Amino acid sequence: MKAWIVSEGDFGDGNSVVVFAETRNKARDIGTYKLDREYMEVSAVRKKEYDQYADQMEVPCEVLIKDGWWFTCYGDYCYRNDNVDQEAIDHDGARIIDGKPYCSKCVAEIDRQRKGAE
Ligand SMILES: [Zn+2]
Repeated sequence: MKAWIVSEGDFGDGNSVVVFAETRNKARDIGTYKLDREYMEVSAVRKKEYDQYADQMEVPCEVLIKDGWWFTCYGDYCYRNDNVDQEAIDHDGARIIDGKPYCSKCVAEIDRQRKGAE
């Protein structure tokens, strides 16, 4: 399977997802569903570097963030308002836990609760 980056609008403008498919059309099909868009509203570009992740059908969050992607925090304490990117991880205490991105606020809360549970 081939890796594709499917994006809203022109590449780089809106939200993007990595999908795995044999053809560009199929990639756009899957991306349309994942981004909750119409077919004509998404574009797909090949990403050969991510082909190696086809078996697991998912590119690790760490890899994407290193490549300049950002994610909405997966935690609940910021009401999923905060974005996590490399900058936030390097300088702001954001972290990836079990493959999911968490902002500094949520990391602090998770640490607090883990301590409490010990
Ligand atoms: Zn958060």
